[in-house]
Amino acid sequence: TDASPLLRVRGLNAWYGESHALHGVDLDVSRGETVTLLGRNGVGKTTTLRAIMGLIRKRTGEIAFEGQDLMRIPLHRTAHSGIGFVPEERGIFATLTVDENLLLPPVVAEGGMSVEEIFDLFPNLKFRRNSQGTKLSGGEQQMLAIARMLRTGVKMLLLDEPTEGLAPVIVQRIGELLATLKARGMTILLVEQNFRFASRIADRFYLMEHGKVVGAFPVGELPLQMTRLHEVLGV
Ligand code: ATP
Repeated sequence: TDASPLLRVRGLNAWYGESHALHGVDLDVSRGETVTLLGRNGVGKTTTLRAIMGLIRKRTGEIAFEGQDLMRIPLHRTAHSGIGFVPEERGIFATLTVDENLLLPPVVAEGGMSVEEIFDLFPNLKFRRNSQGTKLSGGEQQMLAIARMLRTGVKMLLLDEPTEGLAPVIVQRIGELLATLKARGMTILLVEQNFRFASRIADRFYLMEHGKVVGAFPVGELPLQMTRLHEVLGV
């Protein structure tokens, strides 16, 4: 039903070999929401995104996306379930052009943007459309990594530190883009160290420590949570 969250995660555990990285993560993301995972380095934020995508082999728990049981979907089909993952390292193909990178991921659902719509949203990418991946700036690569997911028709984006290493003016531009996507109904789960950036676009926050979610609050409660955030994040 519409009342159920688009993404529902319960008791998610994940291991790297013998190393137990996630200890029962619970989280929900509703349709159209932007939710941010906060926490210090190494608490398991990236691992949570990777485990949802099925990129970690050893995992247990429940993951439901639009009612589909992602634990039962084979690894190579997760991308077809309607979730687009943009990893921290972005994964742009260095020897392919912007156009080629955009056209590479398969369309998985109706409702994706056309290349022209994408270029309306990312005019700088249109200007660079024949440039190779290696020639792009960090900000352009990040935008391309997000843009190519929009073509595929995914309903939800998992973004891992999209502002990492980018200049403030580019961070602001990416914030505007995410706000535009949100206004168009995109659902976003974001891992972000840049707390100020996250607070401009997130509806809710989850706080992670030691491989689990230890707190949750809506953006409106942010002022009340500052002391705790300083403690947990060390910021
Ligand atoms: P960061 O912002 O540094 O990525 P994070 O909260 O995303 O932090 P994770 O990257 O999810 O943290 O890491 C969670 C734990 O798993 C850490 O203890 C980390 O050292 C460990 N870990 C991450 N990747 C691997 C890997 N490929 N092999 C083994 N251990 C890993």
